[in-house]
Parts: sequence; C-alpha cells; structure tokens
Amino acid sequence: MIRPGLRQVIARGVRKRCPRCGRGRLFRAWYTLDDACRTCGLTYECYEGNTWAFMYLSTAFLTGLILAAMFLIKPDEIWMGRATVVSAAVMAIIASLPRRKAVAVALDYYSEIIWNQPPAQFGDSRNDVNGDNRFVGSPPPHRD
Ligand SMILES: [Zn+2]
Repeated sequence: MIRPGLRQVIARGVRKRCPRCGRGRLFRAWYTLDDACRTCGLTYECYEGNTWAFMYLSTAFLTGLILAAMFLIKPDEIWMGRATVVSAAVMAIIASLPRRKAVAVALDYYSEIIWNQPPAQFGDSRNDVNGDNRFVGSPPPHRD
C-alpha cells in the first residue's frame, strides 16, 4: 500500500474518511469515532491524548475568529449583536467538532507514519501488513 501524503491525509480527514485508505468511515455516529477502519483495519485512535492538542488549538482559533467578529460587528442594539455572535459561535464550534476531530485523527496518523513511531503497546508489529507501524487487528480491551 502506498503511503498517502499530508494533503491527501488532511483531505481524507475533512471528508471524515480513514486517513490510510480513504474509504472507511471515521464515525459510526455523529461524534462517535469508530474503533478501526472497516475497510483496511487501521486503529483510528491508539492514544486519545494524541488528538487533544489539535482540538484545543482549533477551538482556540475559532474563538479568536469569534472575538474578531465581536469587534467588527456594530449592531444597533449591543445585546442583539452579542446574542448573535455568541449563538453563532456556539453553533460553529459544535457543528465543526466531527470534522475537526477527523482532521486531528488524520494528522495523528500522518505524524506516526512520518516519525515511524513504534506500534501501540497492545499491538503486534507482525500484524503491520501495511508497513506504517499502525496496529491492524482487534481493538484493545476496554478498561475502566
Ligand atoms: Zn482504512
């Protein structure tokens, strides 16, 4: 399998598709990430913390845009302007969650293939049929 480039990986994330094969869906519900790709078997999120930085920064970026909008909008009634900007902000941040998460998963995948990180501790490199150090097989057992 040919390793995808950064642009291709990001485009697959924007379309909410598997960053490796581009065919499998990332989500089984609106914001419920599937454990692995149903087409190629890629485990989407070996470590949940790997996507936190992108999610935090993208939320901060959106908040910055909203703050800029608050300074640029000059409504007749100040409360109306604030209500409009705040409600638009909440809707934009919530509506973009799945796409931002998908791009975060795609960037996590890309960083792992370019930095050649070792497979997840629950994985077995002998299952690495795609040569990208990503675990292929059943997901790890659920721990509480
Ligand atoms: Zn896939």
